[in-house]
Amino acid sequence: MNCYECKRPIKETTKFCPYCGAKQAHYKESKNGNSNYNKVYIGIIAIVVVIVALFLFKTNTSDLEKSAVPLVDQILQNQYDLDYSCESVIITDKLGDNKYSAKAELDDGSAINITIEHYPKKDKIYVQIPYQEVLFLQ
Ligand SMILES: [Zn+2]
Repeated sequence: MNCYECKRPIKETTKFCPYCGAKQAHYKESKNGNSNYNKVYIGIIAIVVVIVALFLFKTNTSDLEKSAVPLVDQILQNQYDLDYSCESVIITDKLGDNKYSAKAELDDGSAINITIEHYPKKDKIYVQIPYQEVLFLQ
């Protein structure tokens, strides 16, 4: 390419012409091009982070669902003295940072609403079955 001021041949990557010292317009253009490229790049990273977060949330909740099944059994059998066993737990809603509402399906085909609390740091899971949910089982 040539200097836009003195028209002498210069390198394309030169910021200032070595002959007349004129600042080359192309330098600014290519800089803008880079920043657009960076924006696209940051956008892609953000999308990947969101996908990873969704994936982690999904695996966490499915692990939680599995861990909650024997706890529902325990509460029904020990606390309420009911001869039911829990087939599966499905998390339906996130209530707070560590709290979820879920549906527990029982072996007779009925389903009850439960809440699950999960404290990952303590690795503890609490299941609560409201009394009114158990009432209609009895
Ligand atoms: Zn020049």
